Amino acid sequence: MTAIEMQFVIFRTDYKHKMNNFSIAIHGGAGTLVKGMMTPELEVQYKDALKKALDIGSDILRNGGSAIDAVEQAVISLEDSHLFNAGKGSVFTSKGKHEMDASIMDGKSLEAGAVSLVAGIKNPVSLAREVMDNSDHVFLAGEGAMEFAKFRAVEMRDEAFFYDEFRFQQWQEIKDSDKFQLDHSVKKDSKFGTVGAVACDEQGNLAAATSTGGMTNKRFGRIGDSPVIGSGTYANNQTCAVSCTGSGEFFIRGVAAYDVSCLMEYKGLSLEEAANEVVFNRLKTINGDGGLIACDRFGNITMPFNTEGMYRASLDINGKETISIYS
Ligand code: ASP
Repeated sequence: MTAIEMQFVIFRTDYKHKMNNFSIAIHGGAGTLVKGMMTPELEVQYKDALKKALDIGSDILRNGGSAIDAVEQAVISLEDSHLFNAGKGSVFTSKGKHEMDASIMDGKSLEAGAVSLVAGIKNPVSLAREVMDNSDHVFLAGEGAMEFAKFRAVEMRDEAFFYDEFRFQQWQEIKDSDKFQLDHSVKKDSKFGTVGAVACDEQGNLAAATSTGGMTNKRFGRIGDSPVIGSGTYANNQTCAVSCTGSGEFFIRGVAAYDVSCLMEYKGLSLEEAANEVVFNRLKTINGDGGLIACDRFGNITMPFNTEGMYRASLDINGKETISIYS
C-alpha cells in the first residue's frame, strides 16, 4: 500500500467514526414501580413508550439530523405519554395544578434554555428550546416564562389535558399534609418519572434535555434540578451530555450533571467512571437518590442509578439497542 493509499484508509476510518455514527439514550425517571408491583402489561406499556421515543430520536440522527433536535423530539415523545411525570403526565401541586420545568443544552455552542413553573404548555422542552434559540436569556420562570410562551405562540393545552387519574389519586393521599412526594422516594406506587435524553450526532456534537412535573404536592414555587443547567442537564462537546433524574434538591447541591463533566475534564476520568463517581459516591454521600444518562463525543453511553430501577433506553454506536427498567 502506498503512503497515499494508507492516508486514504486512515481518513476513511476517521470519517467512518466521526460521520457515520451516532448514539442516543433516554430516561423516564428513576422512580419506577417496585419490582413486585410491575405487571407484564404495564411493563409492555413503559417499554413501548421508551422504544417510541428512542426511535424518534434515532431516526433524526440516522438521517444526519443534529443531537439537539434528536433530544428535543425524544423528550417531546415522552412528555406526550401519560406514563411519565413530564408534560401530559405531570404530577399535581399542593393547589391541584401542574407546574412544569424543563431545560435543554447544546454541547457544541454551550447555549442553553430552561423554563420553570410553567402551566398549560404542551411540551415544556420546546419552550426551553425557544428560550435558547429566540431569547437573550437562559432561564425564564413563572409568569414571565408564560408571557414568553404566548409571545412565541408555543402550543398550549387546557387543564383537562394534564389530568391523569393515577396522578390525581397520588395527590389525594397527601394533599392535606405537608408531605411532598418524589416518585423514587416512596416504597410503592412510585410509578412515574422525570424524562430526559442525551445524544451524540454524526458530527460528534452532543446535546441533553430534561423535563419534569417535579414533586406531587409541591408548594412555595419549589423548583428541582431538572431545569437547572449544570444540575439536571448539561452538555459540552469536550466532555459529555448528561440528563439527571432523582431527588432534585440533592442534584442541585451536588451540581450533578456538571460534576460528571468536570470529573472528565479535570481528572481525566472516562464517561463511565465519572458518572459512577457522581451517582454512587458523591450523591450517595449526601443521601441523593436517583440516576442519570450520559454520552460522550465518541458515542459511549452510560446510565447508572442508585435506586431500584430507572426507565431507560439507548442505541449505541454499534447499533445495539437496550430498553430496561430494573438493574
Ligand atoms: N429531579 C426531579 C425533581 O426533583 C424529579 C425526578 O427526577 O423524578 O424535580
